[in-house]
Amino acid sequence: MDRILEREYGGMNEVLYNYAAVTGQDRWRELAQRFDRKRIFEPLAAGRDELQGLHVNTTIPQVIGAARGYELTGDRSLHDCADYFWHTVTERRSYCTGGTSNGESWNAPPGKLAAELSGYTQECCVTYNMQKLTRHIFGWTADPRAADYYERAYYNGILGGQHPRDGNKLYYVPLQSGFWKMFGTPLHDFWCCTGSMAEAFAKLGDSIYFKDDDGLYVNLFVPSEVTWQEKGLRIVQDTTFPESDRVTLTVRAAAPRRAQLRIRVPYWSVGGSATLNGARLESFATPSSYFVLDRTWRDGDRVEVRLPMRLHSAPMPDDPTVQAVMYGPIVLAGKLGTAGLTADTLRAEPTKPRTVPEYKLEPIAAPAIRASSSDPTTWLKQTGTSPLEFRTVGQSQELTLVPLNRIFDERYAVYWKLV
Ligand SMILES: [Zn+2]
Repeated sequence: MDRILEREYGGMNEVLYNYAAVTGQDRWRELAQRFDRKRIFEPLAAGRDELQGLHVNTTIPQVIGAARGYELTGDRSLHDCADYFWHTVTERRSYCTGGTSNGESWNAPPGKLAAELSGYTQECCVTYNMQKLTRHIFGWTADPRAADYYERAYYNGILGGQHPRDGNKLYYVPLQSGFWKMFGTPLHDFWCCTGSMAEAFAKLGDSIYFKDDDGLYVNLFVPSEVTWQEKGLRIVQDTTFPESDRVTLTVRAAAPRRAQLRIRVPYWSVGGSATLNGARLESFATPSSYFVLDRTWRDGDRVEVRLPMRLHSAPMPDDPTVQAVMYGPIVLAGKLGTAGLTADTLRAEPTKPRTVPEYKLEPIAAPAIRASSSDPTTWLKQTGTSPLEFRTVGQSQELTLVPLNRIFDERYAVYWKLV
């Protein structure tokens, strides 16, 4: 068993905890506990980050199992393990995209990320699994920081991980400048990420809403509908976010019902506002909290929310002169052209099935950015073509920046050296 625990055995504890829950049989819980990796769990439960050197996508599924184990057994040490792990990974080991891992590992102490940029950063399975863990954390805490993280991973880790032309999946999201996204091929490259990214896209409708006895949380701004059976309410969300910063929620109710509607006000939004049935509401909520409307809802009630987006920088924790730029929750990437890229070099090598992809060309360097401050509005302006397209100003080589999740088949840069 000790040898098994040192291999990449996936979420065996989680699946067995789930099996114990559906069968009601203790023996499956006991078997699940044999897959709990205590050597990793104990320092985490004690609040120690000893993750350096570990294989990332072996560890995260094990910790998801710890989270599920806590829910079934009430074991506080499993709770503390999952909770501390989530905080240390999302706050000290994640890129601006919400992704983590470099060459599939954590190679450095927490907070050391500036030297962790390569063509092999941010394995897609890892983002998928961190979203999965985040659902547990949010379910326990309703912490808006967990919802903020989920959104970050949604736009910058999941979207863009499937090629829009043929649905092929991505293994790594390269964050060293000058690389490109190398997708799989239809018949040869079936990686772990091929599976998890298919699941991730099937779950784009997951975690938009959460509920408890009194209220409904609106966590993501995605056109959707949710039926809240217990209250006899249906909420219809209309938006073109992130092209627009406006979100409309229309209530459908067979009979008037009292309930709380809790709308997430993201960390990135300043100066938001809301109207109810066309009348401006006096109060709103601060960033990274919930705007709560507690009232008796009638059919046709309509809440409109405005969440202004702005450019903001995402510096590396250990080197503030290395920065990415975000617009609202969206990580922007600079287009660096297609030099040397052909149909052959863009795709993984089909003669080498089931291996990690290898780039056939070298990355190219991105220009340093001349900036008078770390405020990206000093060197970046909206083009007017699209609200999500920007152009550098005052640089030796002017560049266009667009959302990372919309870059395909070309070289790009996410992190910039500011001088
Ligand atoms: Zn993978």
